Amino acid sequence: MLAPIAFLALALGAVALPHQEPFAGYDPSTAAPAYIEESDGVDRYDGHQVWRINWSNLTDTSRGALYNVLETTGDVWKATPDMIDIHLSPRAAAVLPSLLPKDTHARKIVPDLQALVNLSLAHPLPDLHGAYAPHSPLDDPPTDLPEGGWNVSTLGTLFHDAFQPLAAVDRFLDTLVKAFPETLHTFEIGKSAEGRPLRAYTAHRADGKTDAPEVVIISGQHAREWVGPASAIYFLHALLVSFRDDPEGAAAKVLREFTITVVPTLNPDGLVYSREHSRMWRKNRQDVGGLLCKGVDLNTNWGYEFRPSRLACSESYSGQRAFEAPETAAMANYIVNGTAEAPRKKMPRAFIDLHSYGQLFMFPYSFSCNVFPPDAENLMEAGIGVAKAIRMIGGPGYQTGQACQSTLRFAGDAADYTYAVGQVRWSYSAELRDTGTYGFMLPPFLIRPTGIDVVAGLSALALFIYNTEIEP
Ligand SMILES: [Zn+2]
Repeated sequence: MLAPIAFLALALGAVALPHQEPFAGYDPSTAAPAYIEESDGVDRYDGHQVWRINWSNLTDTSRGALYNVLETTGDVWKATPDMIDIHLSPRAAAVLPSLLPKDTHARKIVPDLQALVNLSLAHPLPDLHGAYAPHSPLDDPPTDLPEGGWNVSTLGTLFHDAFQPLAAVDRFLDTLVKAFPETLHTFEIGKSAEGRPLRAYTAHRADGKTDAPEVVIISGQHAREWVGPASAIYFLHALLVSFRDDPEGAAAKVLREFTITVVPTLNPDGLVYSREHSRMWRKNRQDVGGLLCKGVDLNTNWGYEFRPSRLACSESYSGQRAFEAPETAAMANYIVNGTAEAPRKKMPRAFIDLHSYGQLFMFPYSFSCNVFPPDAENLMEAGIGVAKAIRMIGGPGYQTGQACQSTLRFAGDAADYTYAVGQVRWSYSAELRDTGTYGFMLPPFLIRPTGIDVVAGLSALALFIYNTEIEP
């Protein structure tokens, strides 16, 4: 009979791994990547697993060493000082116990990744028999009108009920610009590595007053985090519809007092690749001179405390120099210089970089906990307000804090740059839903709830800024 604690651990799916010397049995020369990096077809993840390893008992040094081992064994999804979630091929999962130091607890949180991938591609439209069924990623997305247009006059549009391909995203946003011609404008901030336009959408009040403080929201730096772009678009759409329908509401006030610029898909090449070839793709798609691997991890490629990488195949490959990726270079140029037509006169007041997953709202710095931002107290207070606003509308718990304490320390991230170099005082990065049940493969029925989190949270942030320093 099992001892009660061991029984409980098994019931929860946790395993106390056999005692091992740290990293015993690990040979980097034979370590295989978790999945094929390049694919002409569509990658499948049958039998792939995600494990959560609790490493809170390790020292910083051992944690760093273990991270390096795990990074070459599998695909790190999320890492904090307490735990790491890692995606492993069946072969890598079999050797996992031999890689972990003794007394490390690990448990499988996703037994079959392909099942979650299928779920994230589901359409909410019933099939001919009335059942809700997953569709192939190559199927056309659902549309509101037979001729293929989106009904943007309402948040009820079917657009928000599925993760849409890039072409549908662009078409939806074009329709939105046409529907709100006095309030919403679009422009290009540059081109991606594969030459796709990097589109920005600016919403402001209709009276032509353009000197309102600007809030810049970006998403999609990491290709597989599909809920980021979906939520950013929901936020923009919700602001416009609320501004029209509820002039006294919080969202309308945000649009009266601020200019809101959204770059919903900063990594369009990666997004397309993650839909058409490899659902787990994270980086952009630029050629980095490697024979096997492509892509720069955009969120380690910004020009503050940038650290070059050696391993082009790593999912967090930062490149050889800051702003090597055209996507980060274009975004930073917009933050600092504006556009050729409208050179920047005033720096943005706030910057929010949307990622998933983890339910976190974090302020700088990410690169180090030894440097504390002078505005930390205010940034923390506003972050707590964001989490509270999300809870008040029935959303889940979000945690707020300094990025270096909430996740593993990464140098060269966007919010560190906008805060330190761009002088954007209210700089944050957010990890949206969830906390690991679905991870990056959030099912489509959670797009709206996550979008509603973002509307509540970012409206609260904007109004906090307004009340604190614009009209105190
Ligand atoms: Zn991310």
